[in-house]
Amino acid sequence: MAFSLMKLPYADTALDPVISARTISFHHGMHHKTYVDNLNKLVENDPMSSMSLVDIVKAVAGKADKVGHFNNAGQVFNHDFYWNSLKPNGGGQPGGALKSQIDSDLGGYDKFKADLHAAALGQFGSGWAWLVWKTKEKKLAIEKTANADTPIARGDAPILTIDVWEHAYYLDHQNRRAAYATAVIEKLLNWDFAAEQFAKAK
Ligand code: MN
Repeated sequence: MAFSLMKLPYADTALDPVISARTISFHHGMHHKTYVDNLNKLVENDPMSSMSLVDIVKAVAGKADKVGHFNNAGQVFNHDFYWNSLKPNGGGQPGGALKSQIDSDLGGYDKFKADLHAAALGQFGSGWAWLVWKTKEKKLAIEKTANADTPIARGDAPILTIDVWEHAYYLDHQNRRAAYATAVIEKLLNWDFAAEQFAKAK
């Protein structure tokens, strides 16, 4: 198979109680796995099977006959990125160059936090909230995307993401997306991963 389900970088209990092992068993073991399985079927016997997820998403973005490729490759990328955006005992504030960039582009950590939360809450229906490096403008931004859409489709570089599809939080928080987003931001965001993405993007 061309693509495989990423192994989680922590135990399935590590993000509890914000994200329980039960949520991870469905979210990683079923939802995420299904996107991987679907993508593998779509690229079977196709030159795309040797392309990266980023290159597939860019190649098929906006093509009406390749919506399945876009949705499944986008969702595999987005979920890989989401699991890496989290860690047990995460949260807190970023440091170093990323902190300085958040201060100058986003008005400081407190405003960043409020704006990321607002993006997570403001995404109507399924989707994602992002801290992203805008490659053309050369600055950080907060964005939200619907369904499988992803900043990589536009050539931007994600720094952190929060999955706001209901499957990400419903078992643990029911309809309270705001409580889930607050807890993820305050307790789980992986600023080490974010700093690595920022260093690569800039
Ligand atoms: Mn998801």
